[in-house]
Amino acid sequence: MANATETIDWQEDAGRDLVRSFGPRMAMFVRGEGAYLWDDQGRRYLDFLGGIAVNSIGHAHPAFVEAVATQAARLAHVSNYFATPPQLALAARLKRLAGTGESGRVYFGNSGAEANEAAFKLARLHGGSDRPRILALRNAFHGRTMGTLALTGKAAMQEPFSPMVPGVEFLDSTVDALEAALDDRVAALFVEPIKGEAGVLPLPEGYLAAARELTARHGALLIVDEIQTGAGRTGEWFAFQHAGIVPDAVTVAKGIGGGFPIGALITFGAASELFYPGTHGSTFGGNALATAVAGAVLEEIERSGLVENAAARGAQLREAIEALDSDLIAGTRGEGLLIGIALSRPIAKAVTAAAMENGLVINAANDDTIRIAPPLTIGDVEIDEFLELFQTTLTTVAHALLLDDPDATASRLPKDPA
Ligand SMILES: *Cc1c(COP(=O)(O)O)cnc(C)c1O
Repeated sequence: MANATETIDWQEDAGRDLVRSFGPRMAMFVRGEGAYLWDDQGRRYLDFLGGIAVNSIGHAHPAFVEAVATQAARLAHVSNYFATPPQLALAARLKRLAGTGESGRVYFGNSGAEANEAAFKLARLHGGSDRPRILALRNAFHGRTMGTLALTGKAAMQEPFSPMVPGVEFLDSTVDALEAALDDRVAALFVEPIKGEAGVLPLPEGYLAAARELTARHGALLIVDEIQTGAGRTGEWFAFQHAGIVPDAVTVAKGIGGGFPIGALITFGAASELFYPGTHGSTFGGNALATAVAGAVLEEIERSGLVENAAARGAQLREAIEALDSDLIAGTRGEGLLIGIALSRPIAKAVTAAAMENGLVINAANDDTIRIAPPLTIGDVEIDEFLELFQTTLTTVAHALLLDDPDATASRLPKDPA
């Protein structure tokens, strides 16, 4: 059949032409609308991964399309020798949403890693020679560039690329570990408020408040990586706002652009005065096109109450997921529409593959966690469809396990048939 041949063709092309650092592509997508995607065979999928928390207002949202088209036709790029109206408007909007007040400033880059690279340099500027130490949390993810990889406390990811940029030390995510590590030689503490890549692991209750107090006491910056949690995903504009703290800097990317590449470092108070002319820059960063699109995405999130929707739909989803009929679900974690579904067995990859077969896009954050990060626009229709597809998926996987795995069969038989 023609369709089957086409499928083989793109798999071959991808296998031959694309960098091998990503695994085999699971589908070839050609179109999206709202929370739905269509593949090259015309099959429809419910997208509950949202491009990894990127498609905050869904696919092909009219506000996104309009912003891209209008700004592209007007002015896309002029370099940072010049200002543009959308860039200034987005900087002011991000300051307002983050609550920096007058003294805040915004640096624009093109990705999460670039936002965190800027934050790393901010930490060095603050530290100077007196404060060479930078603290980060074990298993948090901050990016793949050499600087952000040095901040990412995962030995397996760092190992092929050592030596790392020096100065970074990793801590367990406990207040005790932080208290023990902090002294007046620490320039900054980096935290990921919910460790998305590690399996949607929230920080312990009270951690951010304690981190704020302890870093302030020692004169260290508190830098919050909101690249996955920002843009309203957790039911606040930024996850740090749940804790009622004021950090020194916040990094954003992913959901801010709704699919257009953009990242930013937002600084608060005195941290806003650390960069001085010549200390950092980017050719593309904050160009008129990217900032017009991000401005339109944030405007749509605000106008349609999607931050509140993320909170309400997140709670609704978690309750419903926990009520599903499957021994494979051990519980849920997260905040708003960043949800980790803990599995009772390390079969997240098999569940993800089976979900694709059923027309549902989800993600295996690790062996025993499914991550979902759907568009913030979802309502009852998408949630009901997700629950049905996910239940079917779990039933299929459970059945396959029973057939393949004698232990699984044994565990389902009466323990002691007296
Ligand atoms: C995705 C992510 C990054 C890296 O962003 P890129 O755009 O992939 O460079 C950094 N930190 C966190 C918390 C992320 O989720």
